[in-house]
Amino acid sequence: STQTSDKPARNTTAWWREADRKHHLSPFTDYKQLKESEAGARIVTRAEGVWLTDSEGVRILDGMAGLWCVNVGYGRKELAEAAYKQMLELPYYNTFFKTATPPPVELAEKLAEITPAGLDMVFYGSSGSESNDTVARLARFYWKLKGKPEKAHFISRTYAYHGSTMAAASLGGMTPMQEGYGLPLPGFHHVDPPYWFDFGGELDREEFGRQAAKQVEDKILEIGPDKVAAFIGEPIQGAGGVIIPPDSYWPEIQRICRQYDVLLVADEVICGFGRTGYMFASEHFGIEPDMMTMAKGITSGYIPLSGVMVSGEIGRTLVEAGGEFFHGYTYSGHPTACAVALANIDIIEREELVRKVREETGPHLAKRLAELAEHPIVGEVRSLGLIGALEIVQKKRPRTRFPGNGKAGTICRDHCFAHNVVLRAVRDGMVMAPPLTISTEEIDELVSRLRTCLDLTAKDLGAG
Ligand code: PMP
Repeated sequence: STQTSDKPARNTTAWWREADRKHHLSPFTDYKQLKESEAGARIVTRAEGVWLTDSEGVRILDGMAGLWCVNVGYGRKELAEAAYKQMLELPYYNTFFKTATPPPVELAEKLAEITPAGLDMVFYGSSGSESNDTVARLARFYWKLKGKPEKAHFISRTYAYHGSTMAAASLGGMTPMQEGYGLPLPGFHHVDPPYWFDFGGELDREEFGRQAAKQVEDKILEIGPDKVAAFIGEPIQGAGGVIIPPDSYWPEIQRICRQYDVLLVADEVICGFGRTGYMFASEHFGIEPDMMTMAKGITSGYIPLSGVMVSGEIGRTLVEAGGEFFHGYTYSGHPTACAVALANIDIIEREELVRKVREETGPHLAKRLAELAEHPIVGEVRSLGLIGALEIVQKKRPRTRFPGNGKAGTICRDHCFAHNVVLRAVRDGMVMAPPLTISTEEIDELVSRLRTCLDLTAKDLGAG
């Protein structure tokens, strides 16, 4: 630890930036770039509704709900009070060794009620990564109990994001997270995503969706159906660029998994808890998952919590076959986190946020985005509920990207940053997922700022 005499005053932007620069390793960061930059990190100090405030008092429209998680918006006293009350009563106790506490079991019952039919038991963790790691171990354990221990391989998609731990990053399909990190682990296989805009060429969307699904069938046959444990997918691939599959895709995946006795796992970490205008996106796409992972929106990000829901068949097998599942986390079923989740679900239900997203704010966002589709550098807009994306192109037909492999997206993202609206760039796409409490006026504001930034981006790229 170092102490210098010319340190800036405590609790100022300069002080936080210096402490951040010297002592903090933040996730997904190029440390050279951040630590040696003049500006340093933006320090966010408060938030209310959909508006962040930084340490200089600047108000920023959060078009990403934090990291796709603050579903009920910032500043909800009920959630703070639920945590406070539970912490005074019983801040922590474990759920190992034939013990439980009230909040995780009450939440388990609630989750069985609100998740898709057939899912009725939950295994808790504290993050999406942990829950997807749980899936990898639970699927292998399940097949062992069924007398098929060789069913141990997993299939997922490129551009998938399932987390940063070793198994979750293996399930994921982000090559930069794998190359040089000894990943994917053995037994993890990938097929192409149902991403019509980049991979569909001249194919009709629905035909492309069927072909993308067929890749899963081909991969199962290549590995051998008796060796494949599960297929995992986000109903809409979020971090990979808000890839909304053609309607033909998921029913085919469902059919293929059933046919070859492969477990179907839906990663609803982003899509769950109302994001798409359904409590879970599986309902919209007609997915009947054998397992389903949840995190983020389960507490609206106010406190870490995640879970894996399992089907009746898996639950029955675990109970009837017996044998210990050697897996669990200190914070599995954390009482304070579960109490916050219950209060959060209560808000979602009481304020009818899912219906509002489906019938009001989701369609409003779609309408406003459709206007942006006319912009000279916009090749496509797409959204479902309050998750959406826009593709930046040099030429609309045939779909042609700007040179630079993500450069256009970064330029647009930086303009958004400067115009105090948080949106994310994924390659040359701009993605958004605001809190589900966003008003139609705030959606207008978000889209209007985005339009300004697209104009500036076009100018920078000599296309304006
Ligand atoms: N699955 C999906 C679909 C995600 O988007 C994320 C996080 N962005 C994760 C899993 C991992 O969650 P966590 O960061 O909480 O580990």
